[in-house]
Amino acid sequence: MQLRIPGPTPCPPQALQAMSRQMINHRGEEFDKIIKSVTGKLKQVFQTEGDVFVLTASGTGGLEAAIVNTLSPGDKVLSTSNGVFGDRFADIAVQYGAEVTRLDTEWGRQVDLDAVDKALGVDSDIKAVLVTHNETSTGVTNNLAGISAIVEKFDKLLLVDAVSSLSCINLPADDWHCDVVVTGSQKGWMIPPGLAMVGVSEKAWQAHAQAKMSRFYWDFAKARDYLKIGQTPWTPAVSNFYALDATLDLMLNEGLANIFARHARVAQIARDGVKSLGLSLFPEEDCASNTVTAVNVFDKIDVPKLIQILRDEHDVVIAGGQRKLSGQIFRIGHLGLVYEEDIELVLEALSKVLPQARR
Ligand SMILES: *Cc1c(COP(=O)(O)O)cnc(C)c1O
Repeated sequence: MQLRIPGPTPCPPQALQAMSRQMINHRGEEFDKIIKSVTGKLKQVFQTEGDVFVLTASGTGGLEAAIVNTLSPGDKVLSTSNGVFGDRFADIAVQYGAEVTRLDTEWGRQVDLDAVDKALGVDSDIKAVLVTHNETSTGVTNNLAGISAIVEKFDKLLLVDAVSSLSCINLPADDWHCDVVVTGSQKGWMIPPGLAMVGVSEKAWQAHAQAKMSRFYWDFAKARDYLKIGQTPWTPAVSNFYALDATLDLMLNEGLANIFARHARVAQIARDGVKSLGLSLFPEEDCASNTVTAVNVFDKIDVPKLIQILRDEHDVVIAGGQRKLSGQIFRIGHLGLVYEEDIELVLEALSKVLPQARR
């Protein structure tokens, strides 16, 4: 089967084999070795000298952790949403009592740097900026390097949802002054759902010392104290740690630059391919993502029917649109374990099924 949704993504045999291993004591020597190995390798992929913690959670848990560890109720936050996941990040902040200013961008476009600069210039009380590096719902990659330079100029906290970008698209967390950067195991990391990985900067720790939002399970201080003794505060998803240890080896052997280049090549094939089938990209092309391609169908194609025929007759699984994009677009995930031939196969199936799914 070609599982080409933007997460969960296919797992290589090395990950699946690792996960078949017997349970161990998560407060014993073996786990100590694994968590230290995983954390050290994650720091290389995050391109950080700061802290990296592995939380047992889906990506959203990591986003919640980013908020509650750095902010207090009443703190002003600038949300730079341009899709479903950006809205979710802002909603979490609202839920915990932050005062959120929403700088919303039309879906399919990237966050405008001048608008961020202006918003931070207008309100000097803003404490943190929320950014979705790769907006999975629209297939847009935001200019995080550009945004981070502005956030740095104003000396604000930068909280980044990198769930569907980190490990696939370049994100040097330290160079880009990311204070908390969040990713999730079922996206580019080639292992099943269950882990959220978070990078935490020194500036985030300073914010943590002042931050008064409620936190227990998510408290980074607990994660840091337990990591020192080779443990997590709560029982971790042990099997996922086995798998991550294995896929991190695959990733570091391939090399980050090669991984980013492979995602860029595969994405280009996806974009060229759908265009050659007479369809258009949903996002503006200059910000089209290298991990997920969102495709317009207008009123020409019945998306649920397209998805069903692809799955039933071609063993190809793609995703539809979310929220207001439901029925308007479909999305091809190409992150993690993906090569040119995988996307060629998807395009080949699409070319056969599109005429069958016309309205
Ligand atoms: C998948 C994803 C998430 C997290 O979703 P979970 O279902 O909680 O793992 C968050 N942000 C983005 C951009 C995503 O792609």
